[in-house]
Amino acid sequence: MPYSVVPENLSSLFPDEPSYRADQLHSWLYEHPVLTADEMTNLPGQLRDQIGDNLWPFKVETEQTADDGTTVKWLFRAPDGNAIEAVLMGYPKRNTLCISSQAGCALGCTFCATGQFGFDRHLEPGEIYAQVAYATAYLASAGLPGCPDHLTNIVYMGMGEPLANYRRVRESLRRIIEVRGLGARSVTVSTVGVVPGMLALAEEPWQVTLAVSLHAADDELRSSLVPLNKRYPLAAVEAAAANYFRVKGRRVSIEWTLIDGVNDTIDQARKLAPIAERLQSHVNVIALNPTPLSPDQPSRPERIEAFMAELARLGVNGTLRHMRGQDIDAACGQLRARSEPKRGSAQRVEISRP
Ligand code: SAH
Ligand code: SF4
Repeated sequence: MPYSVVPENLSSLFPDEPSYRADQLHSWLYEHPVLTADEMTNLPGQLRDQIGDNLWPFKVETEQTADDGTTVKWLFRAPDGNAIEAVLMGYPKRNTLCISSQAGCALGCTFCATGQFGFDRHLEPGEIYAQVAYATAYLASAGLPGCPDHLTNIVYMGMGEPLANYRRVRESLRRIIEVRGLGARSVTVSTVGVVPGMLALAEEPWQVTLAVSLHAADDELRSSLVPLNKRYPLAAVEAAAANYFRVKGRRVSIEWTLIDGVNDTIDQARKLAPIAERLQSHVNVIALNPTPLSPDQPSRPERIEAFMAELARLGVNGTLRHMRGQDIDAACGQLRARSEPKRGSAQRVEISRP
């Protein structure tokens, strides 16, 4: 499985071949990824056969599209049975890929489907990077209607908490930024507030964008939604975000998922405003996507409007984001919602490419 090998060691796959074969393979994995080994046209047939079905470190179990074909969700299945989900969202001038960093998540945020189903394991750097390579190859071949043919942005907002899998996520960032050559500024790492990871990321050589999932602006409410807040309370998370801003000169963005009657109050908006002001952060607000194991509902439109209006009145830059892919469970917090293979029946596969 070539993506499981450190990019600098690819020659170990071809011990009997001249070293330029490893360079050619390197280019097929990191510069111009392709969907199948057959497309690696400058490799001899015998090497292509050797790679064969093992090109990807997972099988593509389902590919679903939504939003007129501009959103694609993949459920990849690792050989050990774990699900890895990635969502590609195309726009007229950019394509954003949302990738997973863990199979499941141990942090148990009450409103998140991934958290509700628990933690299976960390994803390996090759499994994280391969999601990027697969989407790149897909864009170059099938593509999304009316969207660029290449990947422009990556967000670590799929399954898992990237900063709870720091070493492997770091290596995946290195492959994306240094080996593949995507601009660090186009990459966003989203964290629910793993303070040691936030501090460590500030020391890395990359100008990656950091997003902090806040959701509540006092410790009592935040601890009830995000159990990790008991370990790293708001003040510590804010200090780590301020440190990132200071060291990198890059503003940290704040994510806020509006849950009906829970964190959509004027009081929360007023507590959020000074935090956003101190960090000079932009606040990205989305309405909750319902999940199977929680009765929580998205805020009603009038409450969303009032929350946004209060932020604006207090001088906070906030944007209400509209969700992609809700009907295929591809929206934020919905990954893992229905990825368990059903016993005794084949998984429903919907392939509806444009
Ligand atoms: N673990 C990281 C990254 C993955 S979650 C984090 O929590 O930041 C990506 C984003 O989706 C986070 O901002 C998270 O709070 C949000 N999210 C989780 N569940 C959601 C839901 N049901 N509806 C809307 N957003 C959700
Ligand atoms: Fe994990 Fe993020 Fe979901 Fe919380 S919101 S359970 S940290 S994936």
